[in-house]
Amino acid sequence: MRAIVIHSAGDLRIDEMPEESPSEGEVLVELRAGGICGSDLHYFNDGGFGAIRLQQPMILGHEVAGTITDVGPGVDGLSRGDQVAVNPSRPCGKCLYCRKAQFNHCLDMRFYGSAMRMPHIHGAFRERLVAKADQCFPIAAGASMQEAAMAEPLAVTLHAVRLAGSISGQRVLITGCGPIGALCVIACRLHGAGEITVTDIVDEALRYGERAGADRTINVATHGEEFSAFSAGKGTFDTVIEASGNPQAIAAAMAATRPGGTFVQLGIGPDAPLPVSLIVAREIRYFGSFRFHEEFAFAAQLISSRRVDLKPLISDVMPLSDALKAFQTANDRARSMKVQIAFA
Ligand code: ZN
Repeated sequence: MRAIVIHSAGDLRIDEMPEESPSEGEVLVELRAGGICGSDLHYFNDGGFGAIRLQQPMILGHEVAGTITDVGPGVDGLSRGDQVAVNPSRPCGKCLYCRKAQFNHCLDMRFYGSAMRMPHIHGAFRERLVAKADQCFPIAAGASMQEAAMAEPLAVTLHAVRLAGSISGQRVLITGCGPIGALCVIACRLHGAGEITVTDIVDEALRYGERAGADRTINVATHGEEFSAFSAGKGTFDTVIEASGNPQAIAAAMAATRPGGTFVQLGIGPDAPLPVSLIVAREIRYFGSFRFHEEFAFAAQLISSRRVDLKPLISDVMPLSDALKAFQTANDRARSMKVQIAFA
């Protein structure tokens, strides 16, 4: 079978890989759709990020959905022909944090397409994938498999919104309108946000924020004064979800957060000084949000029941044979939002 393999920065290949068959508790999934994520792009552009570097060829990809074509022994509740979204997260289930049900903090995590450990954990951008049955979440027949492949990034945003607490009726700011920021709009709307403002520095990205349901979009590169108005008095926003990781965006969003407001740091960027005096003086609740766990099942359910519409965020779908072009397209924020590979 063919798989999308990163060998080093800029060296992306479609390689032939051996077929696998499901063992006890496993299923074989024939992939339909796979979304390119920011971390895939980091491996493609830079060969990794921070201290995490590619040391051997690795199959990329962790946002996938497909159809079950074979079922190993001891699997209940899944059958051939079922459509599933595959959770790329595989916590060990035994370590201190798994025992405390903080699975996203597992000390022995095996996350698809990650060079964090040696040997690297291969990703899911391949024609067929053996997965554990409990990683597979059914998607109703007729629901979109492209949307199903967005269950993982949607779960990331559902986790951030859950950590934020009740946002019902609140004025919410989302900074950074990449796929995660745009999905935050959908997640916040679902949780009853009163008014949603989204910022970015690329007009085309903000248009996707509008399609996702934002009430207001502001390009802070060209309309900085429009955004500064929200910092008047002691700030405006009840809840901020920071999805850019950009130090300037963090500082500007903090200045626009009202006293007692909640600030969820979801984007990751370079370590930079924080406006600590503002956090203290306004008693801002500032905390991070990392990946997800139980939210994956919720995300799959939302997509399967069509309670959310993620289609407006899928900008490009390209065949596996055009993988390189797909990665180049995903790199261009002025041209794309979520770029997906069609595997079958
Ligand atoms: Zn663990």
